[in-house]
Amino acid sequence: MMCFQHRENQSIGICKSCGKAICQDCFIEFPKGLACSAECEKDGKELVEMNERGKKIYGIGVYQTNKLASGVLIWLLLSGVMWGVVALNYYVLAETDYGSAAMAAVFSIITLIVYRASKRTGLNC
Ligand SMILES: [Zn+2]
Ligand SMILES: [Zn+2]
Repeated sequence: MMCFQHRENQSIGICKSCGKAICQDCFIEFPKGLACSAECEKDGKELVEMNERGKKIYGIGVYQTNKLASGVLIWLLLSGVMWGVVALNYYVLAETDYGSAAMAAVFSIITLIVYRASKRTGLNC
């Protein structure tokens, strides 16, 4: 392929932003890419940044974890606290706190729904 701007030159790469072929005389190098112009360099860097953030959000590659998504953890914690209140009332006061038990059950169901949703989307937040 020949350079988009210098037809006589053999291209050495492709612009990350606009996809045009670029040669030794006109390429701009930046981490993880090449660009044909300052504008494309800016856009290309943004694309790289977007990729990196996407990897973090979806837990891909180096960002891969087996940790639960923070949304799931919060609901898990809330359910745990509510069940704790129910257990405490039951054992200490010998009373069944139906209100708290109902809340705990609802929180547990929400935890399950959020967990399943996070598994389905693969979102890590
Ligand atoms: Zn370009
Ligand atoms: Zn060129």
